[in-house]
Amino acid sequence: MAELSKNIEECLFGDISTKELTEKAYSIKKQEFGSDITFSPKVFIPLTTLCQDSCGYCTFVKSPKEGGTYLNFDEVDIIGKVGHENSCYEALFTLGDKPEEKWEEAKTQLKDLGFTSTHDYLVENMKRVNDKYNLFPHANPGLMTTSEIIEYKNHSPSGGLMLETFSKNVFNPGKPHYKAKTKIIEKRLETINNAEKIKYPITTGLLLGITDTKDELIQDIENLILFCLKNTAIQEIILQNFRAKRNTLMKNNPEIVNDLFLRIIATVRIFLPKHISLQVPPNLLSSVDDFLFSGINDLGGISPKTIDLVNPDHLWPDLNELNIKIDNSGQILKPRLPVYPNFINKEWLNEKMFEKVSNVINEDGYPKKYEYAS
Ligand code: SF4
Repeated sequence: MAELSKNIEECLFGDISTKELTEKAYSIKKQEFGSDITFSPKVFIPLTTLCQDSCGYCTFVKSPKEGGTYLNFDEVDIIGKVGHENSCYEALFTLGDKPEEKWEEAKTQLKDLGFTSTHDYLVENMKRVNDKYNLFPHANPGLMTTSEIIEYKNHSPSGGLMLETFSKNVFNPGKPHYKAKTKIIEKRLETINNAEKIKYPITTGLLLGITDTKDELIQDIENLILFCLKNTAIQEIILQNFRAKRNTLMKNNPEIVNDLFLRIIATVRIFLPKHISLQVPPNLLSSVDDFLFSGINDLGGISPKTIDLVNPDHLWPDLNELNIKIDNSGQILKPRLPVYPNFINKEWLNEKMFEKVSNVINEDGYPKKYEYAS
């Protein structure tokens, strides 16, 4: 373990140039993923903007007084229809973590919708979207128990939960996870271990820039790698760079600089199990061009129709322009489903989901048809 930590430190802060490091990572990417740079055409469904926590960088959630609310069935359906009609495959359900555990107003709103829990309401919405449209639900509902995951698995091919950081310092007063009960790392690891028990493909990752020290960064990467070596449900790692947002506790915190971010990506690619996809969100980068040879093979969900409601100041790149850019880099922009080809089998998907997925993919596991939406 000490050896891994030393090697990570050497990559991040040692003498090797960023160019040399990224070349090494890019050659691993090429061996495993060839020329492909994938993305998931999606629509963003903000099922509820209420949450039991309030993290110091989050602008997605609102308290009941600020207008935090649930979408109703019709609103979800309208977004699903837009996705269906615009060549999307992913219905990304984004929501706060079990807001009814904190807010009476959340209980009341759920009751008006005919439910007693956010989980049950999410499952019903996933079911409706999955049954009605050629879309595959993928939800980020926060912590998940095994019985909850069993229900998600009935209506979706994968789910997500960011680990964000292993550091405990973020729970100190004035820090981003102060009093954030759902961000306790042991609970988040438990969720992903639950997913492995249920054989539910999971996307996870780090939120880079919410800690302060080099040691925390090295430990985050080391712990992430060690966890990925053990947990077979992890299909994808997102390396998300923190962006300072107005009106948040962290509005004046520094953002990660490109050179360090490139070194982090390359380091993770070098030590990560090779089959795991590595993603950076393109709308949070200063320029996608700088990252195309860093070791990433995926640009995550990009929506032709809905904005990134978690980072509303950062627009998705135009898909046609991105396509040209990636083509010019000698790589190929390729749409994918929210489940990766190496998880498309009956071990990881239930019978009905496997059938639905199989109907839309080629032998390589990627969608048969995709038209860049205008
Ligand atoms: S748990 Fe997630 S949704 Fe809730 S406040 Fe924190 S970042 Fe926002």
